[in-house]
Formats: sequence, structure tokens, C-alpha cells
Amino acid sequence: MTVLRSGSASDVGRVRTINEDRALESLTLFAVADGMGGHAGGEVAAALAVQVLQAGFNRTPTTDGLVAAVKEANQVVWEAGVEDQALRGMGTTVVAAALVAMGEGDRLVLVNVGDSRAYRFHAGTLAQLSLDHSVAEELVARGELSEAEAAVHPKRHILTRALGVAPTVEVDVWDVVPVEGDRFLLCSDGLTNEVPTDLITSVLATIADPKAAARKLVNLANESGGNDNITAVVLDVLVGEPGAVEEAVPDDLTGAVDASDAGPAAAGNGVTGVSTAVPGVIVSTPDTAVTPSPTTIAEKPRRVRRGPRRITFRVLFFLVLLGGLAYGAWWVIRTYVDDSYYVGVKNQELVIYQGRPGGFLGMEPQIVTHTGVNESQVDPNVLGSLRAGVQEPTRSAANRYVSQLVASRCSIVNPPASCATTTTTTTTPSPGAATTVTGKAP
Ligand code: MG
Repeated sequence: MTVLRSGSASDVGRVRTINEDRALESLTLFAVADGMGGHAGGEVAAALAVQVLQAGFNRTPTTDGLVAAVKEANQVVWEAGVEDQALRGMGTTVVAAALVAMGEGDRLVLVNVGDSRAYRFHAGTLAQLSLDHSVAEELVARGELSEAEAAVHPKRHILTRALGVAPTVEVDVWDVVPVEGDRFLLCSDGLTNEVPTDLITSVLATIADPKAAARKLVNLANESGGNDNITAVVLDVLVGEPGAVEEAVPDDLTGAVDASDAGPAAAGNGVTGVSTAVPGVIVSTPDTAVTPSPTTIAEKPRRVRRGPRRITFRVLFFLVLLGGLAYGAWWVIRTYVDDSYYVGVKNQELVIYQGRPGGFLGMEPQIVTHTGVNESQVDPNVLGSLRAGVQEPTRSAANRYVSQLVASRCSIVNPPASCATTTTTTTTPSPGAATTVTGKAP
């Protein structure tokens, strides 16, 4: 089970007159959209995107459902722009985190289009999970630009992907194990362009309340100039996996980490002083590229990293329950078989078996009493039944039945010679004894 707590803040900033950012907080879905476009366009695009995203994910609360919702949002914004001259050219970024139940447990599924960002604050370290879809960052990802060059690149604000600017869109998707104590930050570039990462880290490390932390981040961006709209959503994992994906985080935060071993943010992490090691991040797609632009990354590093398989309490409980059920079923069958007796014939002698005639589920009947009565001593008409096995409710009932057979045979006119020697002894067999009743007169 995963329990999340969130808080958000959004502000127009100190330069703009309209806030075209939009934050979304619900029980299981969190998002930031940063709209763009003339007049009211950006505001409309961001609002539409968030609305369609939420409706789509509510319909299908899965990873595929979330990606489909982003694509549907793209289509809705695109069509609205095509239909309305005033909204033409509008678009929006979107970065979202959704709690999704999967077979192996809950996952936080992250999706991103554009240059809004998702970060994870884990074990004192802030790591950027998303990759900016900007010209500069994608050049960095392709190794054609250094981080330092990207920071001042003239095209650093030009997006290579956004919602609503084309009929289709490619969506980045990640799965993250929600580790208890982890904090996630979704934010627009109005925050990251103004506030250095170490300051964001210290806010997330010191302000426990997510709404207060989001508000503090927005305030810091305004204090640094507030050149753009600013939005932050802080998401805390109150109850989650108990550190299942703990991995060594380099002590030296600026230490180089092999880009191929980290999440998609590693290649294009535009933040210095932040570890690019992203423990527990599972890159589940990029999904199918649709007409990639020249600056679209041809191939993203793919990595599948999961915590060690653990026997959870749930699995243990299930195994114990399964074992209990199996034992219960075996016990019922065993009792049923052990409580069954029948009279049969073995080597022409009447014997009493414990079990079911012919056996039951591999449990063969066992002889528990040799009666000493020869089959010639009973009515030949019942021999057929006896050879097939005549069932009796108890062992003593089986003994009585044998005695009755002998007695009825001896009570007829001209009884067989054996009656003279057997009637007295076989009529009182010891019910519990698995011993031979000799049938011989003293
Ligand atoms: Mg912005």
C-alpha cells in the first residue's frame, strides 16, 4: 500500500500578467502544465491538458491509460488550436506522476512532454528524473553540447516537444518505486530557471509540509526575479516500499556516474551538483516515436533496475494460507479413508479392510482383521459382493457382518461341517484387534 501527501503552489511571477501554468493534485494523479501561446492560448492549453489528462487517467488508471490520456490531451489541445483562430499555435508542457497498482506492487508512473521537470529527493539527494525536450538539452543528450554550453545556449528555451503543437506526440514514461520517505517535485521552468538546484534541495530537506515547501520554492523564484510563471507540486511518499531500492549514492554529488547506468535524466541532466544516479527508476518506454523532429533523441538509454525480490508479508501470508488449505484437504481425505471399512476376500478368507475398495487417491486399503472365516462358510450368493467389497460404517460393524454371514449360513438345514467349529469363536471377534480369529475349537 502506498500513501501519498501533496501540496502545491503556483504564481504568475513578477513579469507576466497571466499565469499560464496549471497544477493538478488529486488522490493518485499529480501534474504541472506550462502553457504557451499568444493571448489566452497558453492558459487554455494548460487547463485543457490537465482536464483531459485527469479524465483519461480516471477512466483507465494504468500506465497505458496515463500515456493514452497524455496523447488524448495533445489531440484535444491541437484540435482546439486548429478550430479557433485566437488559440492557434497554443501548446503546453506536461509532467505528471500517477500512482498505479502493478503486479509487483505500487508504482509511481511519470510522464513528460516538454521542459517542465520531475525530480526525486531520495536519501538527501535530488535527482532529475525527466529529460527536458528542449533543443539545448537534446543536443547535450546526443553529446554535441556540454552542460555548461547548454546553460547559455540561445535555443535553450526552444522546445522540441510540447502538447498541442502537432496532431501526435511522443511521451516519455518512467516507473518509479515509491520508497517511503521519498519526495517528488514536479515544477515548471519558472522555478528551475530561477532557483539553483542546491537551494531547491535544501528547501525539500528542511520544510516537511509539502504545501509549505511548494510555497517556499515559488517565493524563492520570485525573489530571484520571477521572470516566468512558477508552479511546484511536492509529493511525499508517507507509506511506501521500505527502501526496497536503496542503492549506493555517490558521496561526491558532482561525481560522474555512467550515463548509461542512470535514468533518462542522466544523459541530459541540466543540473550540476546533482547526482545523476537515480535509484529504482525503471525506464519502461520511450513509446513509439511519431515523426521525430531532427533534434529528437534517436535512442534513449534503457535501463531496467528492480529491487531484489523480497518475500513480503503478503506473500508469506498467502503461502501459509495455501499450505494450510492443502493440509486441511489432505486431512479431510485421510480421515474419510481411515473411517472407511469393508469386508472383502483375500486368499479365500474373509478379511476386514480399512480404506476404500480399490483404493482412493493413491491410498491403498489395508487389512486390519483376518477373520479366519473361509469363503466356503458363507452363502455362495453373497460371495460376489464380498469379492467387490461390502462397506460397513465401522470396524466392529464389519466384524458383526461377518459373524452374521456365518451364523445365517449355519442356521440353514444341513449346514456345512465348518459350522460346528466356528460359530462360537467368530461371532465375537475382538473389534480392535488386527489379529487372526482362528475359528478352531479348543
Ligand atoms: Mg514557463
